[in-house]
Amino acid sequence: MRIAGQVSIDDIPKVCPLVSRAANPQYGERGTRVVVVAGVRFGGERPVVIGGPCAVESHGQTVGLAHAVKRAGADMLRGGAYKPRTSPHDFQGSGLEGLCILSVARQETGLPIVTEVMDPRMVGEVARVADMLQVGSRNMHNYALLAEVGRAGKPILLKRGMSASLCEWLGAAEYIAKQGNLDIVLCERGIRGFPSGEYSRYVLDLNVIPAAKMLTFLPVVVDPSHATGVSAMVEPASRAALEMGSHGLLIEVADLVFGEPKCDGLQAIDSATLGRIVSFAREKQAVSSQESGVRSTEGIQPTPALNATVA
Ligand code: PEP
Ligand code: MN
Repeated sequence: MRIAGQVSIDDIPKVCPLVSRAANPQYGERGTRVVVVAGVRFGGERPVVIGGPCAVESHGQTVGLAHAVKRAGADMLRGGAYKPRTSPHDFQGSGLEGLCILSVARQETGLPIVTEVMDPRMVGEVARVADMLQVGSRNMHNYALLAEVGRAGKPILLKRGMSASLCEWLGAAEYIAKQGNLDIVLCERGIRGFPSGEYSRYVLDLNVIPAAKMLTFLPVVVDPSHATGVSAMVEPASRAALEMGSHGLLIEVADLVFGEPKCDGLQAIDSATLGRIVSFAREKQAVSSQESGVRSTEGIQPTPALNATVA
């Protein structure tokens, strides 16, 4: 039986010709497009670790955490100035003031910043500060926003919709790519399953990491914080994600000296735990470089017009 609107994995090269591995043979079976964000390389041998608060709440909290994230050895700072909240009555982020705070945090620590943009009308404003624009899980299907961020001239962290299939996720990436921007990093952040909310917030879909890598050459990272919703699960989930081939991690960090976080405090880890995760990521990198030797990718030519680097 044929059903309207159904897309299968076999259709990916046709549906997503810009981001599909099969439609871009220059990447071969294992090549990854390296996405560079202010000198930080996603998709190379070295997993990228991003840490920071769920939300930018104040200057002291975000700049203080940025220093802690830097000391822990992480590569980038995260933090939402605009927050997608279930209730419109809850804290929605600190907006433009939050963007200014992020900019100070980068100035003081040198850490590149990733922050979420929710509204197509705000893309320019957010892109002025962010080194990388985050499209959140709830907006993965927002095609107007995807097109707008695709035109912003910044790398994109594209979170998987909480109920999105792999085909839908890659379709969302294709919307960004269609605007001429292939600097896209996919981020698995947990999907809704029947036990969601019983013992964890979502179900961390580790299997999607190798599956996505088979179907696309874009780097794939994991957010173990939203996937689990439980701070004690974040460290083992981070290790598991790296074992499954994740190119990096996006992790929420808090410190009670700055007060109880306004959102997602129960899933935040402290900077000492972040430090252990960074050490694991660095050991993992050392082992995988030894195992693969120098996996030469020099011969793989990126599509010239798109000016890609391949690892
Ligand atoms: C976030 O990373 O700040 C966030 C809101 O995550 P998600 O979109 O995955 O829920
Ligand atoms: Mn959060």
